[in-house]
Amino acid sequence: MHTFLLKNIRTERKRWTENISTAGDVTASTNLLIRDGKVEAYIDDISTFNEDIKIVDGNDLLIVPALREMHCHIDKSKLGTSWTPVSKASSIVERFTNEPKELDKLEIPMVERAANLIALELSHGVDFFRTHIDVHSAVGQRFLEQSLTAAERFQGAADFEFVAFPQHGLLRSRSIEEVDTALKNGATIIGGVDPASVDGDSKASLNATFELAVKHDVDIDLHIHDRYDDFLETLKYLLDFTEEAGYQNRVAVSHGFGLNDLGHEESGLFNRIKTNGIKVISSVPLTGNIPPLEKLRIYGVDVNIGCDNIYDCWSPYGSGDIREKLRRYGEAFNIRTHNEIADILPVVTGKPLDYENEFNASGINVGDEASFLLTEASCITEFIARPTVINKRFYKGKCINFPGN
Ligand SMILES: [Zn+2]
Repeated sequence: MHTFLLKNIRTERKRWTENISTAGDVTASTNLLIRDGKVEAYIDDISTFNEDIKIVDGNDLLIVPALREMHCHIDKSKLGTSWTPVSKASSIVERFTNEPKELDKLEIPMVERAANLIALELSHGVDFFRTHIDVHSAVGQRFLEQSLTAAERFQGAADFEFVAFPQHGLLRSRSIEEVDTALKNGATIIGGVDPASVDGDSKASLNATFELAVKHDVDIDLHIHDRYDDFLETLKYLLDFTEEAGYQNRVAVSHGFGLNDLGHEESGLFNRIKTNGIKVISSVPLTGNIPPLEKLRIYGVDVNIGCDNIYDCWSPYGSGDIREKLRRYGEAFNIRTHNEIADILPVVTGKPLDYENEFNASGINVGDEASFLLTEASCITEFIARPTVINKRFYKGKCINFPGN
């Protein structure tokens, strides 16, 4: 197993205050004892350490938690193929109806394209993927099987959650059986898309979703693009079903554009979202649909982001750099000062900041798996705001060098 002393690293420990003038004042030099792939101790004074174990030099780099990709579609990736533009579609129904045919025509198999996407995101510091995988009558289980094969290649370098995603509508495409099968075949979460506008009946769609979720004891992650009354109705049913099923902390709303449209019901519904531990996951869109993510985060809602489309049949764009999405988040919500920027780090790490922690505010705690990044950034804020170099990634204590280092 991976046991060593990671010497000569810096951790962020303090808030920026009026008395502080340089990034060095919010960080401290330390050394980290890793045993069997876990963080055993921070050792500030190395002269007190006399165990005879391997020593790895951290070269005075800053340590931050590894990053999480909370919404992507590795099965949709066109990465590695020669350039093909996105085709015209007048509705999402037309788009998703054409998609499997377009993907099947590509010259590189799905396993390779999916692996290319995973490798791209790993190179930007991600070590955890929640990926939606199309599961419906048009594709059966084959996208899931190929995605599982692609992820298999990265065993020992990253963790994965596979969402069984009925892109063509759970009810609309009569896909309950396929999703049921997928949840026996390696999918670990049930997905869904617009219970109101795609399935045409938000109550029946959510009822079927929760029945499958409870049957397989899996979490739920729904793509909801609907706005206004459709969104409001869906959200209320979602909250009701969550409460009835005791599904607190197990449900996510992806996209959630309609979170902008709650009017006088906003505060009550935001509180119910928070109380039920419902995650909101966004790709931080630039198209005017961005949900009020900062408001939700300040309410105490668990806000996460993902790259979503990265060169696929839906979008020709996407760099696969989750930190770039976080910078967009910062810009979109006009977040500028050191402490405000530092506060959004958990959006991509899932680890709350803890300034009470004697050793590390950014969320790498004693007892955690030793999964983190070493970066040339001087502090958390620079790591977020600037495209600073990530020099090394550690996954459960295993060191993975980055290209060029
Ligand atoms: Zn998506």
